[in-house]
Amino acid sequence: MSDTTPILWWVRRDMRLADTPGLTEAAASGRPVIPVLICDAVLEQTGACPKWRYGLGVEAFAGALESIGSRLIARRGAALEVLRDLLRETGAGAVWWSRLYDPDSIARDTAVKAALKAEGIDARSFAGHLLFEPWTVETGQGGPYRVYSPFWRAVRDRAVPTPLPPVAALTPPETWPESDRIADWALGAQMRRGAGVVRPHLTIGEAAAGDRLTRFTETRIAAYAERRDVLAEEATSGLSENLTYGEMSPRTCWHAGMAAHHAGSPGAETFLKELVWREFAAHLAYHMPQITSANWRPDWDGFPWATDPAAPEVIAWQQGRTGIPVVDAAMRELYVTGRMHNRARMIVASFLTKHLTTHWKIGMDWFADCLADWDPASNAMGWQWVAGSGPDAAPYFRVFNPERQAETFDPDGAYRRRWIAEGQSHPPATALAYFDAAPRSWGLSPDAAYPKPIIGLAEGRARALAAYDAWRG
Ligand code: FAD
Repeated sequence: MSDTTPILWWVRRDMRLADTPGLTEAAASGRPVIPVLICDAVLEQTGACPKWRYGLGVEAFAGALESIGSRLIARRGAALEVLRDLLRETGAGAVWWSRLYDPDSIARDTAVKAALKAEGIDARSFAGHLLFEPWTVETGQGGPYRVYSPFWRAVRDRAVPTPLPPVAALTPPETWPESDRIADWALGAQMRRGAGVVRPHLTIGEAAAGDRLTRFTETRIAAYAERRDVLAEEATSGLSENLTYGEMSPRTCWHAGMAAHHAGSPGAETFLKELVWREFAAHLAYHMPQITSANWRPDWDGFPWATDPAAPEVIAWQQGRTGIPVVDAAMRELYVTGRMHNRARMIVASFLTKHLTTHWKIGMDWFADCLADWDPASNAMGWQWVAGSGPDAAPYFRVFNPERQAETFDPDGAYRRRWIAEGQSHPPATALAYFDAAPRSWGLSPDAAYPKPIIGLAEGRARALAAYDAWRG
C-alpha cells in the first residue's frame, strides 16, 4: 500500500481538533484525511436530548473542519457497511478512530476492527476520551479497582501527557465522496417543543468549551470545593456536556486543574477528583459492562423494586410534580436546561429509589432521555451509587431527606423559586419556561395549584427501610 492512500478518520465522541492523538497522527502522515460521521444504531438509540445535542455538536465540528480546509462526510447505516463503501469509493487504506469504552461502542468497534483487519485495512484505535486507559490502572493484586478512593490514590500522581495542539490542516482527498445532509437525519426529531427552550442553556463546540474552562479556572475553581454543592449557584465547571461529546479533552481539563492546584487554588484538587470520578465510571463500564444494565451487586436482583415505568408516582417524578419542592425544582431544571446540578441528581435519585422504592433503571432511562451531558458510564454509576446496588455505593439505608437537603444546599430557597412557578405572584422566566418545554399532553399550567406531596417524607423513608430490612432478612 502506498503512503498516499487516504485515511478515513471516524468521528464519534471526539468533536475537536486539539488533543486528539489519532487525528494528529493522521494529519502528520501527510496522507489525505477524510473525516467520516456515521449515523448507526448506537447513535439512533440515543435518548432524545443527547441525540439532538450530538447533532448540534456535529454542526459545530463540521464548521471547524471546514475552517482548516477539510469536510465532514456524513453517512447513515451500519458502521462496517458504511466504512466498506467509503473505502471502496475513496481508495482509502486505513480507518482510524478514538476509542470509546461503553459496552455498545466496544461491541461495535471490536467487530468493525476485526472485519476490516481481515480485509487488509489498517484499522486502528487511539486514546483521547479518557485520562488513563482502563487496562493501565490495576490494583496491587491485579484487576480493576472497585472502590473510588484507592483508584484516586493510584492515579493522582501519574504523569498525564501535555495536551496536543489543534490540528491546523488536513490534506484533502483529490475528490470528496458524497455526504448526507446531517439535517436530513433529524437527530432532534424527538425534542419537539423542548429544543427552543433548552438550546440557550447549551455551550456547543470546542471553542465555546475552551472559553468555559478558562472562565471556570479564572473565576470559580478557587471556591469550587466550598460552593459546588450550593444548588442555586453556578459554582461548577459545566464541562460535562463538552467532555461527553469530546469538545474538550480530559487532559486539557486535568492540566488546567493541575496548574490551578500548583498555584495554590484551594478548590483545584476537588475538581481533579471529580474528573477522576468520570474516569472511575468509564473504567468500571469497561471492566464490568453489566453496570450499565443490571444491578452491579447481583443480590440486588431480589430487592422488591417497583418496576412499572408508567406508575403515577413515576410520572409525577418525571414531570416535576411530586409536591416535594426541591425534587420538583431539579426535575424541571433538567427539562428546561438539559442539565441538573450534581447534588440535585443525588436528591432526585434517592427520592425515586428510596421514597418511591422504584428501580434505578427507570430513573437512569429518564436521565438518558433528558440529559444533554448524558454519558452511559457516569449515568449508570451515579444511579447505582445512589440506589446502593453499585460498586462503592452509598448504603441503601442512607435515605436523603429532601427537605433537609434543601435547607442545607438551598437555604434561601433561590433554587426552588427559580424552577417552580406555582404559588409565586411573579414567577421568573426560568420557572415559566418549564411550561413551554413540557409536552402539551401533560396538561400543565403555571396557574394550577402546586401538587400536594405524593408521599409523606417520613412515610416514604419508613417504607424504604422496611423493604430493605425485609429483603436483607
Ligand atoms: P464539575 O463539578 O465541574 O466536575 C468536573 C467534571 O468531572 C464533570 O464535567 C464530569 O465530567 C466529572 N464529574 C463530576 N462529578 C462526577 C460524578 N459524580 N460522576 C462522574 N463524573 C463526574 N455525569 C455525566 O457527565 N453524565 C451523566 O449522564 C451523569 N449522570 C449522573 C446521574 C446521577 C444519578 C448522578 C448522581 C450523577 C451523574 N453524573 C453524570 C455526574 C455529575 O452529576 C455530572 O458530571 C456533573 O453534575 C456535571 O456538572 P459539571 O460539568 O459542572 O461538573
